[in-house]
Amino acid sequence: TYTILNGTLIDRSEAKVDIEDRGYQFGDGVYEVIRVYNGKMFTIKEHLARFEKSSESIGITLPYSTEQLSEMLEELVGKNRLHTGIVYMQVTRGVAPRNHSFPAKEVVPALTAYTKELPRPAENLKNGVKTILTEDIRWLRCDIKSLNLLGSILAKQQAAEKGCFEAILHRGQDVTEGSSTNIFIVKNGVIITHQSDNLILKGITKDVVLQVCAANNISVKEQTFTLDELAAADEVFLSSTTGEVMPIIEVAGKKVGNGVPGPLTSRLQDLFTQEIEKQCGE
Ligand code: PMP
Repeated sequence: TYTILNGTLIDRSEAKVDIEDRGYQFGDGVYEVIRVYNGKMFTIKEHLARFEKSSESIGITLPYSTEQLSEMLEELVGKNRLHTGIVYMQVTRGVAPRNHSFPAKEVVPALTAYTKELPRPAENLKNGVKTILTEDIRWLRCDIKSLNLLGSILAKQQAAEKGCFEAILHRGQDVTEGSSTNIFIVKNGVIITHQSDNLILKGITKDVVLQVCAANNISVKEQTFTLDELAAADEVFLSSTTGEVMPIIEVAGKKVGNGVPGPLTSRLQDLFTQEIEKQCGE
């Protein structure tokens, strides 16, 4: 398959990065994961806008415009004949002798992108997934889609060791988000999800869910909710690019409701699938 390395499409086996790339040494960069359905990138504009915003917020100027990036990624998806999968893209501050402070202005950011086949998670979407709870030990700029993912990795590993799909993170009593997903609860027909501030990533899938709710008169509150509210919820679900709108049927060993996906979650799944068809259908 093809890979993008600094603006050129090359064979995957030829795409090599330097040992002094700041992404490799410091995790000094940002990334995006974009869903591809039916050979078309879903919410590409939103992902590229977030990519640019993340980059700018850490002082990296992207070497390409979002229009150029969009064209490059489209070519990549096309040449790789990707039907259902993802595009992974990252930019780092570039290659320079190791030193915490930024390198000289001449150092160009290193941009890479590749594709991967990935089916829609049909089983999990239908049956729901189990989750654990763990303290959110990440930094205070979780709104940046940083390559530094240690806090998330350690949380996800704890979940995996318990046979769970996701770790729901909380700062004290307040639930923030999942290790790689946004979290929603439903109580008496009202959806609640953490406001998009510095403590969570403003998920593109979350935003699609919010839009779909607004268009269908489903009430949503974007506000902090607590562990107690989570425990008392009628339904719980997560959202992410790869996971879509996925029911959560267990939190820390305790069933959510009856332990099966709830009606509002199922309705949102249908509405989300309609959005996919609108953007990526034939
Ligand atoms: N929160 C975190 C911490 C994430 O890593 C992700 C996945 N990128 C999300 C939320 C979901 O964001 P999106 O819907 O844009 O994939």
